[in-house]
Amino acid sequence: MSNALTVDVEDYFQVSAFAPHIDRSAWETTPCRIERNIDRVLSLFAESGAKATFFTLGWLAQRYPHIVRDISNQGHEIASHGQAHLRASDQSPAEFDNDIRDAKRRLEDTAGVAVRGYRAPSFSIGQANLWAFDRIAEAGYRYSSSVYPVRHDHYGWAAAPRFPFESSSGLLEIPVSTAHVFGRNLPAGGGGYFRLAPYALSRWAINRINQLDRKPAIFYFHPWEIDPQQPRVKGVGLKTRFRHYVNLKRTEPRLQRLLSDFRWDRIDRVFDVDAVR
Ligand SMILES: [Zn+2]
Repeated sequence: MSNALTVDVEDYFQVSAFAPHIDRSAWETTPCRIERNIDRVLSLFAESGAKATFFTLGWLAQRYPHIVRDISNQGHEIASHGQAHLRASDQSPAEFDNDIRDAKRRLEDTAGVAVRGYRAPSFSIGQANLWAFDRIAEAGYRYSSSVYPVRHDHYGWAAAPRFPFESSSGLLEIPVSTAHVFGRNLPAGGGGYFRLAPYALSRWAINRINQLDRKPAIFYFHPWEIDPQQPRVKGVGLKTRFRHYVNLKRTEPRLQRLLSDFRWDRIDRVFDVDAVR
């Protein structure tokens, strides 16, 4: 069984937890690390033969169009992470609509391919803003991967289905993976947990999803997570600092193990997003 590998393409200073510390206007002048980090990610994938879906910011496509073309030329899927990395839950429906349409257009113009997937920054779709699914479908996307069915202080919709489901507007939502243990959903889809917990836990959880649930897993990481040399953002609180910087040195070797322990492919192929349901 192939599992779905996904990358949220944003730079280290664009993460939601840093938004109170780095003004958006400073994005233009902050030194970027995304070019070297994407090069490294693409080499890791090429070495292992893995294909992936890259949820990319429209802002980056505008500034570094060659990155988007490189990703697409190597056979990976280009999908959208919105234009400006704004949480869906922080925007009005009209603002959200503009942001996701803008990003889709820029990514399509840059890569010359249709963009069918969208992931909301910080998995910011939940019970309070289900209208977002309708907007995503109306903007011409086929699927979303914007729900993390866990409890977390910044995101998560614990009661959401753990596996792909269709919204009333016909959008396919593909939630990030969880392992269901003792009646609780444990995060099994990457991010900070992948850096914090021992690798064996991630391997166990993905095996459990494949064998017990008989479903493909869906995993995500960010390019800055394999970059221990990234500039440190100043003035950040202890918890945020820990979450962002913990075990950055370990991520790349762990990813190499993950890439060799499982088969990985793009979301659109793993979940056959065009199938009539
Ligand atoms: Zn993001």
